[in-house]
Amino acid sequence: MDISEAKKIVVEAGKQLVATGLIARTWGNVSCRISDTQFVITPSGRDYISLTPDDIVTVNMADLSYEGDIKPSSEKGIHAQCYLLRPETNFVIHTHQANASIVSAMGCDINNIEGESREIVGDNIPVSSYGLPGTGKLREGVVGALKRSDSKAVIMKSHGAVCLGTDYEDAFRVANEVEKICANYIYDKYSTFTAKTAESFSEVYDYIVSVKKRADAPAAKLTAYDSVRIDDAVILSDKEGNIVSTVGLCAKCDELITGDKYLSEADMHKAIYNSREDIGAIIHSQEDAIVAASKIGRNLKPLLDDFAQIVGVTVRCTEFDPNDTLKSSKKVAKKLGGKCRNAVLLKDNGAVCCGPNKDEAQATEMVMNKNCKAIIAGELFGGSKPIGKIDSLLMNVVYRLKYSKQK
Ligand code: 13P
Ligand code: ZN
Repeated sequence: MDISEAKKIVVEAGKQLVATGLIARTWGNVSCRISDTQFVITPSGRDYISLTPDDIVTVNMADLSYEGDIKPSSEKGIHAQCYLLRPETNFVIHTHQANASIVSAMGCDINNIEGESREIVGDNIPVSSYGLPGTGKLREGVVGALKRSDSKAVIMKSHGAVCLGTDYEDAFRVANEVEKICANYIYDKYSTFTAKTAESFSEVYDYIVSVKKRADAPAAKLTAYDSVRIDDAVILSDKEGNIVSTVGLCAKCDELITGDKYLSEADMHKAIYNSREDIGAIIHSQEDAIVAASKIGRNLKPLLDDFAQIVGVTVRCTEFDPNDTLKSSKKVAKKLGGKCRNAVLLKDNGAVCCGPNKDEAQATEMVMNKNCKAIIAGELFGGSKPIGKIDSLLMNVVYRLKYSKQK
């Protein structure tokens, strides 16, 4: 394909990955073959929405050398191997898509795929062995998976997926089909336990909560508000995005700037902002999987790389008591702790997901949701093993100090 045409399509595909929720933030990468020896690929760590064809980098398959000053994706070695091992492949997307990520945490291949899914993806999807992002170990794992299967997709252990296509449309068709296949894989397992057919993941979560939830008294039900910090004020909105109240940031006073009454939940938001200068937005998430994890009430460990990077090495669970807001707000802020953690589970009430701004808080929520889904669905398969503590810490530090700054 003509190089300028290929660069344009790669930019478009990056935007489509974000729009379809197959990735969050700057994760994932996209490439297009331009000859037998070269491909073009997205740059490393950059925001997809602002990319132009001039940002797309030409890479040589043989030695991964590249043209120009822009650093290509850290997964260029995986893309190169896809083109070298599969001559019919002309387009590759590496995604952090939700259902494939859930399956990636369990680590078992999906076999005996049938019907239309088989025509699109192949009769199996192999799971590659674990390696840290951007490393030769990860690349070799994917190479091994590509060699032992004819599948057009590889699930990367505790990470995401690589989807291979004859062109742009084909690669996205594969990615979307992989999501369906992975959902069915989880539903089938649910059916073997319950002899029921699940219509949605919520039924799976309800079942696991019924088996695993704590025995103690449930926490009081909270209303979930999102907030942003603007100078010395906190603006709280409801889930429809309507501003319900603005309060002063001062921890000791109940200063109401706008709104009908001082909301008890405001104290929790204030305590977080006062303890962490780097946080500018909070989303109190009540996504099904996050609420289910908060009912089980265990601290969370990373099952997926992006969780270790953006959410934290552990996420703790605590109760927010609306009748003792100052004390329990302090507890929430304390459980959040230093800069290596961006969320806290609120017993029975979901989680607060934080970030320097609203977009980043949304990315925290998305990745948190995925990890909670993986934890809960993993219970059907006998529990999933978290990523090792040292690897998690390493990813968290590299992400915060280096990778996230490239955006
Ligand atoms: P890059 O930003 O370097 O492409 O890496 C993203 C990613 O998903 C790594 O696995
Ligand atoms: Zn990745």
